Amino acid sequence: MKNFVYKPNRHWQEVELWKDVSQEQWDDWLWQLTHTIRTLKDLKKVINLTPEEERGVQIATKTIPLNITPYYASLMNPDNPDCPIRKQSVPIDSELNKSKYDLEDPLEEDEDSPVLGLTHRYPDRVLFLVTNQCSMYCRYCTRRRFSGQIGMGVPKKQLDSAIEYIQNTPQVRDVLISGGDGLLINDHILEYILKNLRAIDHVEIIRIGTRAPVVFPQRITDQLCDILKKYHPVWLNTHFNTSIEITEEAKAACEKLINAGVPVGNQAVILAGINDSVRIMKKLMHDLVKMRVRPYYIYQCDLSEGISHFRAPISKGLEIIEGLRGHTSGYANPQFVVDAPGGGGKITLQPNYILSQSADMVVIRNYEGVISAYPEPKDYNANAADPYFETVYPVSKNEKAQEGIAALLTGGKTTILPKGLERLERRDLFEKNPERSTLKDKREIREKLKEKKYQAELKKAKEEGDSQS
Ligand SMILES: *Cc1c(COP(=O)(O)O)cnc(C)c1O
Ligand code: SF4
Repeated sequence: MKNFVYKPNRHWQEVELWKDVSQEQWDDWLWQLTHTIRTLKDLKKVINLTPEEERGVQIATKTIPLNITPYYASLMNPDNPDCPIRKQSVPIDSELNKSKYDLEDPLEEDEDSPVLGLTHRYPDRVLFLVTNQCSMYCRYCTRRRFSGQIGMGVPKKQLDSAIEYIQNTPQVRDVLISGGDGLLINDHILEYILKNLRAIDHVEIIRIGTRAPVVFPQRITDQLCDILKKYHPVWLNTHFNTSIEITEEAKAACEKLINAGVPVGNQAVILAGINDSVRIMKKLMHDLVKMRVRPYYIYQCDLSEGISHFRAPISKGLEIIEGLRGHTSGYANPQFVVDAPGGGGKITLQPNYILSQSADMVVIRNYEGVISAYPEPKDYNANAADPYFETVYPVSKNEKAQEGIAALLTGGKTTILPKGLERLERRDLFEKNPERSTLKDKREIREKLKEKKYQAELKKAKEEGDSQS
């Protein structure tokens, strides 16, 4: 159990298509990349397709290309279409169905994009799409308007304008290199990007989003690690969805990155019929932690076009968190995230642990259902440590001018108003009416009268006092 990694049921040489492929070829990332499965004919040599899958492959030109690395394809169950690896990589015809809520760009990444291929949504970090290529196209891909699409390639000039934007935007302290797959560029271009980003003073951390360790572990070479090492701090997030993707090769790839000083995190997507249960997710989290990969996020499936058959309800995510928190190591607990449609960004959700509150007590419950009262401290002096730290390092203007709900808490703002509120539009109309008067106008007159009366009383009292003495 301790050293469990998934072993596929057959060796690749048992598959007709790869019977003459040597270990050396198999381990070569260029060989893998140039021999991906792209046609029905080749796919049929690896698995026995269902009619749904066969139709799916035929319509893939209309959705997102069929492309599977030989490595990932070798993990598929040839006879069972319920195989989670198959479901992630082999299209079915449901991908043509567009549900009422499906959107081309559900996260409005293009709206928050100052230059092509860069999304600046959050105050201090940007998403930098360096390629539209992936070694395997996930059938539920959220960025399917871009990934693998014809005419979406990223020329060097586009990379340069994104880098220039980052250079000219001092609040960007975190750059997320992604795509497509952030490692589906060659080492030379990767180093070019890393070197240029590292040369920017205000860029504190660089991170890479890639599925390579899962679908294409051959990509994680010593040479790649030597490059990453030069530009630390470099972080990396990958994307395992199930434990059966954790093979010897995948584990070695993650460990190679980690040994090069790159912290590796995992972002999984909750997918109907693939990993949507507490037991599958808990096992995945345990297997990740065993190879030092830290579960970072589990995502609610986005509202991209043609993937509604992959969606599980939000309640499933809450149930998974309920099944993890307290029941297992904190390290094995990711955050559950819904990326809000319309560009709201990531919102983390969890079951309610606060049951009630008074001025003195907070009533909380744990994973077992034990209910406890936490007494709030008396005479608490908020932010008492700030002045000392102020003398150590100056607080940047950015940190003081808080946005959002945080600004309500600090008193920087008293209300947040939705745009286009009818009531506020009425206000504007009222104010334009020259004949309009309000209680507020009367109040001013009343205040004057009150003051006059008060002064008169004062005077009278003084006169009376004078006459008595
Ligand atoms: C997810 C994402 C990020 C990074 O978000 P973190 O919560 O910091 O991991 C940055 N920009 C965009 C547009 C994103 O979607
Ligand atoms: S690796 Fe990422 S970008 Fe590429 S197809 Fe999969 S989900 Fe989409």
